[in-house]
Amino acid sequence: MGGVTLLKETGPREVFCGLTSIVWLHRRMPDAFFLVVGSRTCAHLIQSAAGVMIFAEPRFGTAILEERDLAGLADAHEECERVVKDLLRRRPEIKTLFLVGSCPSEVIKIDLARVAENLNKLLQGKTRVLNYSGSGIETTFTQGEDGALKALVPLMPENNNEQLLLVGTLANPVEDRLISIFKKLGINNISSLPPRKSTELPHIGKGTKVLLTQPYLTETSRALIHKGAEVIKAPFPLGAEGSRLWIQAATKEFNIDQEKVSSLLAPLISRAEKTVERYKEKLQGKTLFLLPESQLEIPIARFLHRECGMELLEVGTPYLNKEIMQSELDLLPDNTKIVEGQHVEKQLDRVRNQRPDLVVCGMGLANPLEAEGISTKWSIELVFSPIHGLDQAGDLAELFSRPLHRKNLLNNKILTKA
Ligand code: SF4
Repeated sequence: MGGVTLLKETGPREVFCGLTSIVWLHRRMPDAFFLVVGSRTCAHLIQSAAGVMIFAEPRFGTAILEERDLAGLADAHEECERVVKDLLRRRPEIKTLFLVGSCPSEVIKIDLARVAENLNKLLQGKTRVLNYSGSGIETTFTQGEDGALKALVPLMPENNNEQLLLVGTLANPVEDRLISIFKKLGINNISSLPPRKSTELPHIGKGTKVLLTQPYLTETSRALIHKGAEVIKAPFPLGAEGSRLWIQAATKEFNIDQEKVSSLLAPLISRAEKTVERYKEKLQGKTLFLLPESQLEIPIARFLHRECGMELLEVGTPYLNKEIMQSELDLLPDNTKIVEGQHVEKQLDRVRNQRPDLVVCGMGLANPLEAEGISTKWSIELVFSPIHGLDQAGDLAELFSRPLHRKNLLNNKILTKA
């Protein structure tokens, strides 16, 4: 057994910041509000990415602080509080308000935890104010969710009753289907973090067994472990195999008879495998290069290699938590090259040298690569599309076969014209 090859790289990065995750968190908890304390750039990013009702107050960026000297920092805190009070007067239905920090140096100087604490005293529980950072200096786009969920953990009521806690945002219908499978298998006490209503937080304690639905929740997992929970070791529910192993890992923790699990899952797995088969034809034998962005790269590489027959040239990941990722690493072929971190120029040189059939990367890198005739898939689609679970395995494969299919069509058109 050679195992995978783990390398690290540092240098210029090209990734979205943690503010992006507001888009899916906002959808998941409609009674929560995310107030970005940022600049016009932040406002622009979030509004164009989401088109959701978000306030980014440019006054907390350079605009207002330029007019004042540094002694005016106390005013910045007061100003931040004033904006929140104003907002809550207009929108009293907001139950949980997240103050989200960003990059500009004026914002970094504001102690958002202190602002949140002052506001919580003042609001006396009518609205809960939390804070986390979505700054591009500290976070990549999925780490924004990690920060938001970690901020919720201290508010979870403590209770040692046994429960399965699904952690990580899934599309509601996908989560419903997974919960219904667990219920059929005999696990009835199931909760989710984030919940669908920000005020209905699940309990936490020694009886809680955490099953991560997303791989980028390092900080949240640590906070939950600190509260007594145990994190179940499993690959992630991507593809037929990943979903099967994920479900089985949870049922083993709850001492469910494994024969019952296998017989209930068998028809679902065979259906999932059939849907993947349809796309395998296009993916089999093709080379794949994943640039680091979402932390979903390793599970996706495992799925595309093992279930779709793709050849892995390089698997980048912005951050590697070996504990969370071990079950995934164990499933990768020996000598898979995994690169943690990024030096975007060096990585692009390797892409150009190897000319993979498909590159998974951020939106900013996709256009130049496409212009050079290299097919790409935006990694951000992996968090905006429902891709988890047995029922979605075919859709997941289809996401990656689409750019290859498009390229084939284009080539044929060119040939026909010629
Ligand atoms: Fe705002 Fe920084 Fe994100 Fe740019 S990278 S949108 S400045 S938080």
